Amino acid sequence: MSALLELSGVTRSYRNGDETVTALAGIDLIIEAGELVAIVGTSGSGKSTLMNILGCLDQPSSGDYRIGGRSVSGLSANELASMRRENFGFIFQRYHLLPSMTAADNVAMPAVYAGTDGATRAARAGQLLQRLGLGERVGHRPGQLSGGQQQRVSIARALMNGGRIILADEPTGALDSASGETVLEVLRELHTEGHTVIIVTHDMQVAEKADRIIEIRDGRVLADRRVRETVRETPLPDIATSETPSWFSGLVARFSDAFPMALRSMAAQRTRTFLTMFGIVIGIAAVVAVVGMGEGSRRRVLAQISELGASTLTIFPGRGWTDEKAGSITSLVLSDASVLSAQPYVAGVTPLVTTTARARSDQTSLNATINGVGAEYFAINGIRFVSGHNFPQDSMERRGQYAILDDRTASALFPRGDAPIGKIVMLDRMPVTVTGIVARPRSAAADKSLQVYIPHTSAAGRLLAASTSLAALSVRVAEGRDTAVAERAIVSLLERRHGTKDFFVFNSDQMRRTMESASQTLAVLISSVAVISLVVGGVGVMNIMLVSVTERTKEIGLRMAVGARRLDIMLQFLIEAIVICVAGSLVGVGLALALAALLGGAEGEMPMVISVHAILGACASAFLIGLLFGFLPARGASRLDPVDALSRE
Ligand code: ADP
Ligand code: MG
Repeated sequence: MSALLELSGVTRSYRNGDETVTALAGIDLIIEAGELVAIVGTSGSGKSTLMNILGCLDQPSSGDYRIGGRSVSGLSANELASMRRENFGFIFQRYHLLPSMTAADNVAMPAVYAGTDGATRAARAGQLLQRLGLGERVGHRPGQLSGGQQQRVSIARALMNGGRIILADEPTGALDSASGETVLEVLRELHTEGHTVIIVTHDMQVAEKADRIIEIRDGRVLADRRVRETVRETPLPDIATSETPSWFSGLVARFSDAFPMALRSMAAQRTRTFLTMFGIVIGIAAVVAVVGMGEGSRRRVLAQISELGASTLTIFPGRGWTDEKAGSITSLVLSDASVLSAQPYVAGVTPLVTTTARARSDQTSLNATINGVGAEYFAINGIRFVSGHNFPQDSMERRGQYAILDDRTASALFPRGDAPIGKIVMLDRMPVTVTGIVARPRSAAADKSLQVYIPHTSAAGRLLAASTSLAALSVRVAEGRDTAVAERAIVSLLERRHGTKDFFVFNSDQMRRTMESASQTLAVLISSVAVISLVVGGVGVMNIMLVSVTERTKEIGLRMAVGARRLDIMLQFLIEAIVICVAGSLVGVGLALALAALLGGAEGEMPMVISVHAILGACASAFLIGLLFGFLPARGASRLDPVDALSRE
């Protein structure tokens, strides 16, 4: 027979503050393949410590431990993990089953870390449970099983990856004698099939079922006797060397385990999960909504600007927007408009003239402000049509006698509530047909005057004299002419006519630039709000993950015992953090979409455009938050010591 496990001069001491506790004080021991060994001793004699070292959960303080001739002292944490995964199966006194998983999933868990695919895992777990007499209990949770049944589930788990060497620490300690008998029976059976079985117990009656009894006391071997000859029917293959599954199949297997695990632990703590997600939900919803509003208003303004045309210059009386004397300047007149329209670099001129007139409908008669405007006026000023439409096509050229009323004027002129569209209204002595009704701009909500819009040519030709002063004059620069050159020419022309520069020119290109820089400023503001709210959400997630790691320390220890590497543990908690964040972000996007629908989307008062990009961006940032804020807790989990973690209550 060959030496399977070989300990020479192994010691293990714990530092407890100032004093050092020696749990193992020089153990020399050889265990051969296929043996059924019992390690007996009183409580505190060092049995569990020895067991943990045998199972590569712990390492000796000094001395040498060889598995299949290979020393473990030089192995990395990952190599130790794969050593456990390939060669050992653990059975604990308290079973250490995960309460939220079914029996089958508990049994299948070690295979996750071996990279076995889901179907194979489930099939093998089913077979093992069947064989241990638990075929009917595959879907039960540990809480629904008796102690003896739970211990048999844990034996099945130990066999999942082969379990060449079974390490059972007080396997009958928590069981009644009948269930204990069954468990020992199973262990004997495994031994006859070729498994090496090592049972740790304080109970001599249990130890007597073994072929060889090793007694230890105070960390030393007291006696080592062979009770009966070991019979082996089918020897198992040699010790496997650490082979790691291909990273892809490994990742798939791990994800298919970690994802439902994440959902389960989220479902188990619904309130907490909800509160954690809340920060992310609100953060993402706020960011997506604000970005949507920014985008909506940007598009609206850009649309208005593009209706205005790239090369429109608007001339206002006064020295600038803040000139208070602008109202008394009367030098910008209709004849300026006709002179400008004769220039070669001008394609068209649209004056804004205002006057007052008596407006009469068939129901009433009122004083109103008459605005002579171009057809583009409504688009340029963001005035929305409530009903009807703009002036007919060639109204400007033909001095068309049409009128557009604002909603308040419409209801004042037609108090009985019949539809004004198509009705004739008299403006002093000029009859006009109403073609549309527009909403009064909110900025003018307090203004009590009634507003009527008519084509500026009609106003100029039929209501006003050529010397009437203008409120504004828009010039469309001819195709192919440089706007800046045209602007200089207009300025010098008007300066000559007025004898002074008592007007200023507003350039739509400037407006576009102003708009763009404003929307960039807005974007920076929005992003900083986004970052702050998401960081707050992320800190919430990190907090909850830290709590989760602490609560599940035992589970982490168990996963390490069955062969999870540090990276596996880390992945599990990262996936959990990411699932919480991404789920939260989906709810947040849903909220933002609902808000957009509520506000009437892109056409509403507050236009909101939520693009696919914004949604993808939200999900991507949620993913990153999960990764970033889940990292610290996940790394903490992955760095736990398996023995410490397992013994944590
Ligand atoms: P057994 O399993 O035989 O009851 P253990 O191997 O658990 O004994 O413990 C052996 C000795 O080592 C005991 O004196 C125990 O107090 C000590 N010991 C075990 N684990 C630790 C630890 N993590 N820190 C300090 N002392 C420990
Ligand atoms: Mg013990």
